Amino acid sequence: MQEEETIVPVKVFDVERFQKFLASLPEESHPIIRPSLSASEDNIRDAAQREAFWRGQLKVLRRGTDSEARSHAEEELAHALFTQGKIDDALELAKKPERRAYYESIGMAILKDDNDFCDCPESEEVIIDGKSGTSQFWHQVGMYPSAKHGGKLTPIYKCAKCGNVNTTNEG
Ligand SMILES: [Zn+2]
Repeated sequence: MQEEETIVPVKVFDVERFQKFLASLPEESHPIIRPSLSASEDNIRDAAQREAFWRGQLKVLRRGTDSEARSHAEEELAHALFTQGKIDDALELAKKPERRAYYESIGMAILKDDNDFCDCPESEEVIIDGKSGTSQFWHQVGMYPSAKHGGKLTPIYKCAKCGNVNTTNEG
């Protein structure tokens, strides 16, 4: 018998604090989910190796006085952690606001109920070259190892109309 997949709640971050942070941003700077989010088994393995490397670097750098090199190493380590789905650990290290907003936006998409979608219509009638067709709003923008879905690579969907983002177990 196949083992039932356990849903592990991510102990990510303070959701309320994050929502306040989001609300405080001007409309046009709301975190953008970049389509380059192309997690694969390969780059997760690669990120695990980068994690080990940057942890080693940081051990040395934290004893030294080169704060710029230390900050750089922390950002790199944060990104290696994020790539593996360890959003909470990444947020402990990342300082750059745009990076933090990006990590947090993915975290929010994961925490969100899988069936929580926006109120936009599913699609819109469009006329292209005189022919009518439909344009779907929700589309997949990437894959991410979701802690809530047992660490499984999970598709991330985004609404092209309002920017709403969610992950869902359905492929
Ligand atoms: Zn929408």
